[in-house]
Amino acid sequence: MPRSRPRILVTVRRTPADAASAADYARRVRYYADAVRAGGGVPTVVTPDDAIPGAFDGLLLAGGADVHPRSYGQPINPAVRETLSIDAARDAMEIELARRALGADVPIFCICRGVQLINVAAGGTLWQDLSLAGVDPRAHDQDGHLPVWEPVHGVSVVPGTHLAEIIGASDTGVNSYHHQAVADPAPGFRIVARAPDGTIEAIESERHRFVLGVQWHPERMVGHHPLQRRLFERFVAAAGGESSGPPLG
Ligand code: MN
Repeated sequence: MPRSRPRILVTVRRTPADAASAADYARRVRYYADAVRAGGGVPTVVTPDDAIPGAFDGLLLAGGADVHPRSYGQPINPAVRETLSIDAARDAMEIELARRALGADVPIFCICRGVQLINVAAGGTLWQDLSLAGVDPRAHDQDGHLPVWEPVHGVSVVPGTHLAEIIGASDTGVNSYHHQAVADPAPGFRIVARAPDGTIEAIESERHRFVLGVQWHPERMVGHHPLQRRLFERFVAAAGGESSGPPLG
């Protein structure tokens, strides 16, 4: 029987030590929790210091630092070493949780670092920095330049995919706060949206009820862009047991 208020586990980093960063970070975390509630779910926010609840209906892998390249079989590339910031404790927690959720077909919604994490956890690789893909990273970082809800670049969504079915559009504008991206999608995953410069902006599983990752930050856009709210509504509905799989074939 569908659960009316699905329990959504939201994974985030440890709270920063200094007060100013902590306040800023608390605001970012609130965007996730508020978007989950607006979608009909009950969020539980966990850091690498917290005990993981035994049962949850959906997993939201949130944004944050870079996944260590060793997790996808690469050394840190010396050419881009200074662009990397690693959070090994969070990698360990999230890779374990992601594999557990994938194994149990628990719905997973992945945002920014989250889409990178799920791709790595399922066997894919990342660009350690967009410059290595021949892309200008500045085109994908609007931090300090634009309001958080304002789109900075477009994405073209692949027709016939779960993402296309959810947002009901082939092109839409998104915000951008990343310097890495998916390189090789994991086995069983497909590319479902790209930026005009070719950057992979969304992937989804072909084998699960709902495993979707987006490179942008929809939780910062939901107040101004109803299309982005649908991502949370559909994720929470899937977590509640509503049938909502990717199209077959
Ligand atoms: Mn982007």
